Amino acid sequence: MCQHYKKNDIVTVTIEDIGTDGEGIGKADGYTLFVKDAVVGDVVEARITKAKKQYAYARLEKLLTTSPFRTKPRCPHHRQCGGCQLQALDYKKQLEYKQQKVRNNLIRIGGFKGTEIDRVMEPIIGMEEPYRYRNKAQYPVGTDREGHIVTGFYAGRTHTIIPSTECYLGAEENKKILEILIKHMEKHHISVYDEAAGKGLVRHILIRKGFTTGEIMVCVVVNGESEKEGSIHKEEYIPYQSELLSDLSGIIGMTSVSISINTEKTNVIMGKEIHTIWGSPVIHDVIHVRDMRREGYPCTGQELTFAISPLSFYQVNPVQTEKLYSLALEYAGLTGREVLWDLYCGIGTISLFLASGARQVCGVEIVPQAIEDARSNARSNGIVNAFFYAGKAEEILPAYYEKSQGNEQEELRHPDVIVVDPPRKGCDAACLDTIIQMKPGRIVYVSCDSATLARDLRILCDGGYEIKKARAVDQFGHTVHVEAVVLIQRKDT
Ligand code: SAH
Repeated sequence: MCQHYKKNDIVTVTIEDIGTDGEGIGKADGYTLFVKDAVVGDVVEARITKAKKQYAYARLEKLLTTSPFRTKPRCPHHRQCGGCQLQALDYKKQLEYKQQKVRNNLIRIGGFKGTEIDRVMEPIIGMEEPYRYRNKAQYPVGTDREGHIVTGFYAGRTHTIIPSTECYLGAEENKKILEILIKHMEKHHISVYDEAAGKGLVRHILIRKGFTTGEIMVCVVVNGESEKEGSIHKEEYIPYQSELLSDLSGIIGMTSVSISINTEKTNVIMGKEIHTIWGSPVIHDVIHVRDMRREGYPCTGQELTFAISPLSFYQVNPVQTEKLYSLALEYAGLTGREVLWDLYCGIGTISLFLASGARQVCGVEIVPQAIEDARSNARSNGIVNAFFYAGKAEEILPAYYEKSQGNEQEELRHPDVIVVDPPRKGCDAACLDTIIQMKPGRIVYVSCDSATLARDLRILCDGGYEIKKARAVDQFGHTVHVEAVVLIQRKDT
């Protein structure tokens, strides 16, 4: 019989495993405890926060024996902040955990055999330096109890802001930029957005940096032209805008300052309307893809430059992105003759590397600004064999498949390779269905969520494919997230 705990009970427990949210898992009297902030290998006193029949949630109250896998986190806010879940865990152990996470999901959710996965799975590609790797940060703006303006990060699973201008995963310049913005808002009594009331001006601050070029972008998300901000001039989205711009432009690397207007009562951070108020509408970054195979690879050491606008997706970890893309290209196995689709293509990064080693590539992406970026990136890199469609992959692909029968675009109906890189929710069923009908010889699935990856691979494999290779890449050190690339091949080829 399980002993039933209740809220606030203190339990001594040995932590034996790591849960999906990075929490420590241990057993006490046959009862499973999920202990926030406990590290695998710790013996802890845990305080129960929520008790269920067979298991309970708890948080670390007192560390009795320190795990050999415990390490000193750099950030003082790592326990409250919802951004990092694994900072107290040794980085090597983080990688082991992520390798297991992908493997377990493929087995548990995908229904693949452990022996099959172990045969195809290569070791995870880790980071050399798991701090200061992020090129993008989105800070909510709010007020503290005394009414001071603060920026920071949401505490886990809440919209409470933990005030902080320093994140050790992000670029060092972010701190100075946030300080300038906070000072400006305080000085001119500029209001912050109140989520509950839907009132107030400044909602979020987005900062991006091109790590190879040093170019910095700041985008301030505002709630339209708030009536309270009576002093706004016609062309001003923020009071005393030119003073703010003069301060921001003093930051080395500042390239683009823009305003995003978001009047919706929503969790979506960015509004669709963007106005560049200083400098360029985009920043640039260079991606260098290395030769991951020893020979016969057409894209050896290739470098491409990408323009990135505020609304476009761009991989957040540029160092690991080079490894991720190199791997995706290796799995695509191009000879120069292939015709391909790159679904969920963003600003066309993967598409353009593929295009350099293939005959023709078609990219599909839902965000129209990203497609504009993709087309201009093709032009500026001198690539003429990449084409882009703006729209949902699950609509564009089936429509193309129907319409192109018998016409000159027939080749793209049955491409050699399809690359997909969907957001966390994975591919839509209609998209997977059409992919199976198109019968590409190979599919390269790039995924940022191994649970939906496993679900989609099951559908594709039931449609006639088998897994050939799989490899995780750590794009998000200190968090529980992990990227993975899988190559599947048609069984009859
Ligand atoms: N391959 C790109 C982008 C990957 S992120 C890169 O490496 O940079 C996933 C992308 O899918 C985002 O750009 C997002 O805007 C886009 N997206 C989301 N849902 C989509 C859909 N239903 N159809 C097409 N693109 C979608």
